[in-house]
Amino acid sequence: MSIDRYHVITEKNPREIVLLKSTPCKWGRCTFCDYIHDNSTAVEEIIETNRTVLEQITGSQKQLEIINSGSCFELPTETLKDIKAVVEEKGIETLYFESHYMYRNRLDEIRDFFNVKIIFKTGIETFDQTFRNEILKKGVVFKNPQEVSKQFSSICLMVGIQGQTKEIISKDIQIALDYFERVCVNVFVNNSTEIKADDQLIKWFEKEYRFLEDMPHVDVLWHNTDYGVGGKNE
Ligand code: SF4
Repeated sequence: MSIDRYHVITEKNPREIVLLKSTPCKWGRCTFCDYIHDNSTAVEEIIETNRTVLEQITGSQKQLEIINSGSCFELPTETLKDIKAVVEEKGIETLYFESHYMYRNRLDEIRDFFNVKIIFKTGIETFDQTFRNEILKKGVVFKNPQEVSKQFSSICLMVGIQGQTKEIISKDIQIALDYFERVCVNVFVNNSTEIKADDQLIKWFEKEYRFLEDMPHVDVLWHNTDYGVGGKNE
């Protein structure tokens, strides 16, 4: 059984997307996250796996999103070089990378390395400080949304977790729409962690916020494999 690591998103904001392997997420403490199981310390194997994935990129959409169950800073240098070669060879004009907020002062390292437009995405999950840091253990502290949007034009939110409320979600969506160029809303799906989905809250969200699907700058992932990567194949 292997994992789907390449997909072309054609519907909204068309782009190729790859799920690469990386060294362990430096934060690694978020209580809802079990995708860090894809992290590895076998750097040579990571590099080889990533090469096989990157070979599939065609440049058809001129945009490429890289996700890696962590931050782009945890990708091996060799993989960054391989990405750069693909970007140049396939004429990629925009790259999307994800990064934990703790790397906010290092984003220029990536910008300087790749000579194309970079959009950084960070998992804020919720603007409710207590829920974010005490329940989800996200380790992300900031004064206000503007402080985040200065560094990250794209954010991820998480909805539908037990303990979250309609008020928290409504506020989160409003802030995200007001301050960020791109938003990705992940509807929580039960996984191997102790954090549990709230089915009633998710039903309410589906009804109240279905309209987000029509917004060109908002992705709603009803299931965490909706980007076409991360699922298991035979
Ligand atoms: S920062 Fe991201 S990859 Fe790391 S533990 Fe948290 S959610 Fe998982």
